[in-house]
Amino acid sequence: MQFLCADWSNIRKKLRQASHIILISDYDGTLTPIVERPEFAILSDRARTALKILVLKQDFKIVIISGRSLSDLKNRIGVQGIIYAGNHGLEIEGPGISFVSRIARESQPFLSMISNVLNQALRPISGASVENKGLTISVHYRQVKPRHVNDVKDIVEKIVGPAEASGNVRITAGKKIYEIRPPVDWNKGKAIEFIIKHFGIGCPISALVPIFIGDDLTDEDGFKVVETYGNGISILVGEPYKNSSAHYYLRTPEEAILLLEYFVTTTRDVCHTTDTNKCEQGI
Ligand SMILES: [Mg+2]
Repeated sequence: MQFLCADWSNIRKKLRQASHIILISDYDGTLTPIVERPEFAILSDRARTALKILVLKQDFKIVIISGRSLSDLKNRIGVQGIIYAGNHGLEIEGPGISFVSRIARESQPFLSMISNVLNQALRPISGASVENKGLTISVHYRQVKPRHVNDVKDIVEKIVGPAEASGNVRITAGKKIYEIRPPVDWNKGKAIEFIIKHFGIGCPISALVPIFIGDDLTDEDGFKVVETYGNGISILVGEPYKNSSAHYYLRTPEEAILLLEYFVTTTRDVCHTTDTNKCEQGI
């Protein structure tokens, strides 16, 4: 993995050949710094301004994908024209696309029940919180004292383990978070693949540049998908770690926002309109 700017000429080359850039970004830890409580993750005005300009550009599709619920994500970003993918892509909404996983929708009552039980069981542990996001549940433990972190794990396993063993839910882990998901074989990678295929129909593969920026283990599936495209660009935000599928990294969300601003200022350089007609049927 190398620092994005260190291979800038290669990136520029890919972008110059592109007629369709599908820019997909995670939210927490990617466009906003990791914060003590998820409600404190506020998008900066600079990032919002860059997104507002990019979304109007003909050659760009902007997608924000997150573990947050779709409504939470839309409220936090508040830019029209973006494709929003909430709950790790179980719900997707934006111009030209509308999708909700049927299995996830059907699992909602069961997940709601699990959420209530977890809430009750984790109440004695200071700093632990349960967030029912409709189609998935998050158990946050960033504020839990280190000596009680294993207690959170034990409670989650005790309550959710049997449902996972019987195939009724899935448990995944992220940065100081457990996610309880419906039993559907779906993740950020599959959602990203679905979105790229949806908007890339008819577009020559050489002119399609999918970019995915993320920061967490749950983003690895997305990096892998983007790398299956010859011109795909996968970018990890934060300290690079071994075995990541991302080819590039940026050090901070601040640098990710600088990248968005770079796209704003250089779009004329990177957009070739000559191939656009070939791709319009799919958009
Ligand atoms: Mg993240």
